Amino acid sequence: MTEDMLVENEINTSFEIDFSKLQGGGGKFIISPIGSDKVFCRESFSEDHRMFESAALEFAQKTIFPMREKLESHNKEASLEVFKQMGELGFLGVDTPEEFGGLGLDKTTACIVCDILSYGGSVSIMVTQAAHTGIASLPIIWYGTKTQKEKYLPKLASGEWMGCYALTEPAAGSDALSGQMKAKLSEDGKHYLLSGQKIYITNGGWSDVCVTFANVDGKYTGFIVDKDYPGWVAGEEEKKMGIKGSSTVTLFFEDCKVPLENMIGNVGQGSAIAFNVLYAGRYKLGVSAAAGAKICTNLSYDFANEREQFSRKIANFSMMKRKMSDMVVKCWEADSLNYMTSGSIDESIKDFDKTSPDYFEKVQKVIEDHAIEASLCKVVGSEALAFSVDEGVQIHGGAGYIEDYPICAMYRDERINRIFEGTNEINRLLIAGTALKKALLEDIPIRDSILSRATEWVPNDLFVDEDILTEAKVVEFCRSLNLYVFNLLITKYGQDLKNEQWVLEPYADVLISLSILDTTIKRYIQANDLKKTDMLPVLKLSVANQYQSMMLNAFDILACIDENSDFLKEQVTSLKYSPNKIGLKKNVYRDLDKYGKYYLD
Ligand SMILES: Cc1cc2nc3c(=O)[nH]c(=O)nc-3n(C[C@H](O)[C@H](O)[C@H](O)COP(=O)(O)OP(=O)(O)OC[C@H]3O[C@@H](n4cnc5c(N)ncnc54)[C@H](O)[C@@H]3O)c2cc1C
Repeated sequence: MTEDMLVENEINTSFEIDFSKLQGGGGKFIISPIGSDKVFCRESFSEDHRMFESAALEFAQKTIFPMREKLESHNKEASLEVFKQMGELGFLGVDTPEEFGGLGLDKTTACIVCDILSYGGSVSIMVTQAAHTGIASLPIIWYGTKTQKEKYLPKLASGEWMGCYALTEPAAGSDALSGQMKAKLSEDGKHYLLSGQKIYITNGGWSDVCVTFANVDGKYTGFIVDKDYPGWVAGEEEKKMGIKGSSTVTLFFEDCKVPLENMIGNVGQGSAIAFNVLYAGRYKLGVSAAAGAKICTNLSYDFANEREQFSRKIANFSMMKRKMSDMVVKCWEADSLNYMTSGSIDESIKDFDKTSPDYFEKVQKVIEDHAIEASLCKVVGSEALAFSVDEGVQIHGGAGYIEDYPICAMYRDERINRIFEGTNEINRLLIAGTALKKALLEDIPIRDSILSRATEWVPNDLFVDEDILTEAKVVEFCRSLNLYVFNLLITKYGQDLKNEQWVLEPYADVLISLSILDTTIKRYIQANDLKKTDMLPVLKLSVANQYQSMMLNAFDILACIDENSDFLKEQVTSLKYSPNKIGLKKNVYRDLDKYGKYYLD
């Protein structure tokens, strides 16, 4: 596709989109209208998913919750004890193939574990678990040789060994592949000698094994390093703002002697290994962040219904209700995106032959294809949590600033989620940049979609219930709006769009809003009547919020690129959408109050 993709004079309203051109499921929310597909969501969970959910909840309540204070006070023994128990129950081996001691289950089950164990109330143990099962174990599962898998995976899955992933260096943070660590062949040709340092390494002080990356003759390459190899030196524990119970250290590699057979993948494959496992880390981070946001909503609701001022519970004040209804909506949006993503990945890989030698290569391709979704989960989840914790502290008033109340630690613990696994800025670049790449490579038939929506922004054939007809129109309007803005941006900048951060950031936010609109309305449509009743006010408020956010960003982008906005204004006028947001917020709070806790799981 070239820059002449602009369709100003190429109008063909009967244009049919060939959805078969969609490679995999990644990015399909951009073009797939309501009625053309289904989204996975927690209402789609199987019996097995539900059983895992119950087992995880029991562990969270009976084991993690009573230990949470120890787990948050950097108590290595307590952390290792709970970690080992997680291993015994299979919570560390969900992604690990059965032949190597794991359960070999789907991505949704792995997400359910992150989700439900979070209810144990220890963010630190969840950070430990997530780093171990995700970025530390996945490189070996996906890229390891049979010998490496046999040696490491059973011990990692059982919790006998803890793993870490060391990519960041003092001068290589967001620019992660610019690392300076070197690996040179020993004189006898049997070892690589690793020299350099990796900073801020989660689990680094407690780990038995580390997956790390170093330059072999200038080519970035992955290695598995055992703690007892000479030259592995762990630095002092960092004094952190939050997640104080987890281990974070600098790892020094001082001519660390790593056997040749511990290279992971091939020379020069390190960049792909390092980045591919981060995709999985991102959607799982979204899951645990959304769980945190729900916990925070419940804590805030309980507090607001106990605390009295002016002779009334503070929950009676509308400003408090407003905060809590906004929290509910953000939790629902993040939760919907998370399971849409895991389900879409599972759907794409479910028919792959697990015994085939290229099974994991195919799995990685599917996960890479969901790069936009992985970043969406990370950004939306972490920002839902940030919002909820901030408003939660405000609802607690002075108590929110006191350590006796769990919301206080949550406020500090939350902050890292917007920084690690790629900062939210880097993830916004990935969201918009990957959409651009998919459009240019025609992985998504963007050109056809732009053509089909050139004149008619809202299709006539929207077969939805009357009570969401307005919202369905708004969602399709927003889908067209995105295509319109995207087309203008590509026409103006072509491939250079990826370097235009002033417009790329608001454009990423346009895509974020569209993904939420698409996913939540499809989730609603699939739900049974009982769920629909609870979801309807939340959906309506979410649509109103995301529509407004999208309009602001679209007008900002148009102004920035000197594009006349008259056409867009005409479209807005013909949509005739003016939601009563305050009324919708009242309805959402009414339902929260009816259930007394977050109620859409
Ligand atoms: C508690 C903790 C645990 C961690 N665990 C691990 C771990 O287990 N393994 C590991 O390898 N690393 C780990 N990290 C490192 C983490 O991934 C990095 O801190 C993160 O990627 C950001 O890198 P940086 O700190 O160097 O910030 P920088 O890259 O210096 O970023 C500083 C600011 O500049 C912005 N910025 C940078 N580049 C761009 C750009 N191109 N466009 C726009 N803005 C940009 C960033 O968004 C950020 O706001 C951890 C960090 C912490 C604090």
